[in-house]
Amino acid sequence: MSKNEKSDKVIKEQPADQSQAGKALKKKLQAEFPNLWDVADPADRDAAFSFAEEYKNFLNSAKTEREFVTVAIEKLESMGFSNLDQTASLAAGDKIFKNIRGKGLVAAVIGDQPIETGCNLIGAHIDSPRLDLKPNPVYEDADLTFLKTHYYGGIKKYQWPAIPLALHGVVFRADGSPLVLNIGESDQDPVLTITDLLPHLGAEQMSRKSTELIKGEELNVLAGGLPYPDPELAGRFKLHLLQLLNERYGLVEKDLITAEIEIVPAGKARDVGLDRSMIGAYGQDDRVCAFPALAALSDLNKPERTSVCMFFDKEETGSDGNTGAQSRSYENVLLQLLYLQKPDANMMEQAKMMENCQMLSADVSNAFDPTFSSVSDPRNNSYLGRGISLVKYTGSRGKGGTSDANAEFFARIVRLFDAEKIPWQTGELGKVDAGGGGTIAKYLANTGMDVIDCGIPVLSMHSPFEISSKIDLYFTYLAYKTFLAKM
Ligand code: MN
Ligand code: MN
Repeated sequence: MSKNEKSDKVIKEQPADQSQAGKALKKKLQAEFPNLWDVADPADRDAAFSFAEEYKNFLNSAKTEREFVTVAIEKLESMGFSNLDQTASLAAGDKIFKNIRGKGLVAAVIGDQPIETGCNLIGAHIDSPRLDLKPNPVYEDADLTFLKTHYYGGIKKYQWPAIPLALHGVVFRADGSPLVLNIGESDQDPVLTITDLLPHLGAEQMSRKSTELIKGEELNVLAGGLPYPDPELAGRFKLHLLQLLNERYGLVEKDLITAEIEIVPAGKARDVGLDRSMIGAYGQDDRVCAFPALAALSDLNKPERTSVCMFFDKEETGSDGNTGAQSRSYENVLLQLLYLQKPDANMMEQAKMMENCQMLSADVSNAFDPTFSSVSDPRNNSYLGRGISLVKYTGSRGKGGTSDANAEFFARIVRLFDAEKIPWQTGELGKVDAGGGGTIAKYLANTGMDVIDCGIPVLSMHSPFEISSKIDLYFTYLAYKTFLAKM
């Protein structure tokens, strides 16, 4: 009897109930993270498709941090939230919001317990990588008019030429009146674009390393081609554009210096895949987490603990500035809630309140991409379709710059999600030493609160067209609701 025959015999002789026992033992002992399309019941699948419609509509009207704040406040007001600055007292069940300089937002539903016992907090960021106009953007060259840009956040610069672009932002005129611009999104609007070189003459360009395929100073936005009708006049192409901006909006060139104008990919969020299982859109990092957080908070009524969502600006450039997560502005809102409930609260009670908060730092993770599998550890990466990813740490190299969530806190969240039948997965950002990244988690953790990163896996992160899964979006919404109401 050869070795192989012997082992065949052993398998054949194995009783049926023993193989069942093996399956049961495997189910009991081995961690498994199923694809949610397999395990979701039909009602959840339907709900996922209709929730995605709401999300796409929201994305189309909230492409920038300023637009997110505007649209979110409209939604919150329609759901009975009121402005914290006009609130003199707080009671359980009250719903408030605080606008952080038009680019950040805090919204809360006051809980039954006093806020000094801490709040349940979800934080997401609402800025996305893009191109900002330089202070002196307008110039003409070779009978064309262009706008100079400075990229914001981590982009692959080569992804931005030769696609339709839109212009969003705010300009303050000399009399102080604001002008909100949104050009390139409606079907009737013109779009802008950045030119790329034809392949016929691209030999030098294509030999550049890819970080310089398109250089920062080559991200020039084509904005016009008509001259001011005076052939003798120098600079008449630029003048024509300035004349148009003046006649249409009352602007002069100087107004652009103080403006915040962002160039983003033009166009609407779309279904992706012949089965429509995915969503493709610009700016899903991190609106794919911010939107379900906003929806989860809006659903709450009189939670046990005060529930808070914070929507941060400036995450993509390091969370600096007075609208970023490192700003005291956000913590100050929690202090304001405390003082409204307890006007004689002392500094120790403030500090305790911060320490008693528990937070989900809700930010996208990288979905495993089989085309570029070499950068990921397949056993420790998040996958599209397997639900919200709970991420213990981010950072780079030896976990540099991470807020490593405490095991106690992580395990409590897992127990809650398992008890409430909220599916989840885990992962880290790529292979060790393959790269890395950070989130807002550490800035809030620095105040003493418990924080863990979590979020929805996306493909093509930071590109003009990021991909998420509808089933992940929906179950993340349920996960946020569970965390806010029951953690
Ligand atoms: Mn992000
Ligand atoms: Mn990002």
